[in-house]
Amino acid sequence: MSATALAVPALSHAKRLVIKLGSALVVDGQAATPRQNWLNEVAEDIATLRAQGTEVIVVSSGAIALARRTLNLTQPRLKLEEKQAAAAVGQIRLAQAWTEALSAQSITAAQLLLTMEDTEDRRRYLNARATLTTLLALGCVPVINENDTVATAEIRFGDNDRLAARVAEMVEADQLVLLSDIDGLYTADPRRDPEARHIPVVPVMTPEIEAMGGEPPPGYSSGGMRTKLVAARIATSAGCAMAIALGHQPHPLRALLQGAACTWFLPSGDGRSARKRWIGGSLSPLGTLTVDAGAARALLRGSSLLPAGVRVVAGDFARGDAVRVLGPEGAEVARGLSAYSAEDARRIAGHRSEEIEAILGWRGRDELIHRDDLVLL
Ligand code: GLU
Repeated sequence: MSATALAVPALSHAKRLVIKLGSALVVDGQAATPRQNWLNEVAEDIATLRAQGTEVIVVSSGAIALARRTLNLTQPRLKLEEKQAAAAVGQIRLAQAWTEALSAQSITAAQLLLTMEDTEDRRRYLNARATLTTLLALGCVPVINENDTVATAEIRFGDNDRLAARVAEMVEADQLVLLSDIDGLYTADPRRDPEARHIPVVPVMTPEIEAMGGEPPPGYSSGGMRTKLVAARIATSAGCAMAIALGHQPHPLRALLQGAACTWFLPSGDGRSARKRWIGGSLSPLGTLTVDAGAARALLRGSSLLPAGVRVVAGDFARGDAVRVLGPEGAEVARGLSAYSAEDARRIAGHRSEEIEAILGWRGRDELIHRDDLVLL
C-alpha cells in the first residue's frame, strides 16, 4: 500500500498538537546550558503553527541535564534522589529558557509538572485536563515536564515520550510530534546496518513494529526508539496520530511542514469514543443523580448536565468519580464523571449555575457533568 493511499496526516492540519523535545536537543551537553538559539527557532515555528490555528503544547525534557554540571553529578547513571535534586535545580533554568524563547514571539509560556498519577487518577486527570484546556483557551503554550522532584520510582513515567503520549491522550490532541535525533523509524538501526530502510508510515502498531525499538541508547537520554514506540501505542489508540521527526536541524517543525522525512503512526481509534468507553464501561459508579424530565431530554440532545436539572443525589462520591444518571422514572440514561463531590452536588442540586458560588463559597464548573465526561446509555 502506498503512503499516500493511507491519508498521511499533515502537520499543517493539526488542530491540537503536542510536541516533545528530548534533553539532547534542548541542552548543550558540553556546556550544560540550554540550546537557546535552537529553542528560539522552535518557538518561531510554534508561532507559525499557532497563526495557522493550531493549539500547541510542549513537553520538554532537559531539567536534569541542565543541572548536572552545577551539581557535579556527571556520572552516566544517577540515583533517583540525585535525579530529583538535579531536576529541582534544572527545572527553573528550563522554564526560563522556554519563557525567553516563547516571549520573543509574544507567547505566554505556562509550566506544568505532572506525574503518572496525574494522568491516571481520575480526579487529578480532570484537574490537569481542565487546566491545560483553559491555558490553551487563554492563548498560552503549556510547557510540561515530569514532576521529577516528587515522583517516586513507582509513580514515575521515567521518560518524556510516554508522558507526551499521555498528555496527548488527556487533551484529545489530534497530533503528537516526537522530535528526535533521527528522522523516524527504520527497519534496523541505520547507524549499524546499511540495509536499514526508513519507514514513512506505520498504519497499525504490530509486535513486529514494537520489536524494532531495540535497546535504549547510552548517555543521558532515557528514551531511544523503544519508549517512542510505547508512546506510539498510547497515542494512536487514543485517536492521535504520532510522528517521529528529526530535531537536530534548524526550524525542525518548519522542516516538517515543508515535507521533511519522518515516520507517521496512524491513529487506530477515535480518542473520544475510547474515552467514553472508559467512562461508560470500566468505572464502577459510586452514586446516582436523578434528573428531571427536562434535563433528561437535554442530555439526549447532547447537552451537559447542569445542577438545575438534578433532583436527588445519592451515594458517596468525590469529584471525578463516575456516577449514574437516572431519568425521572428511575431508568439509567447516562453515566459520567461528576465535577462535584456528593456533598457539594446535594447542596447545588436544583439551583442555577450562577448560584453555585454563593452556595459553596467558591466558583466551580457550571456543569455538574460536562458533556465531554458523559456517555449516554
Ligand atoms: N524529565 C527529565 C528531565 O527533564 C527527562 C526525561 C526524558 O527525557 O525522557 O530531565
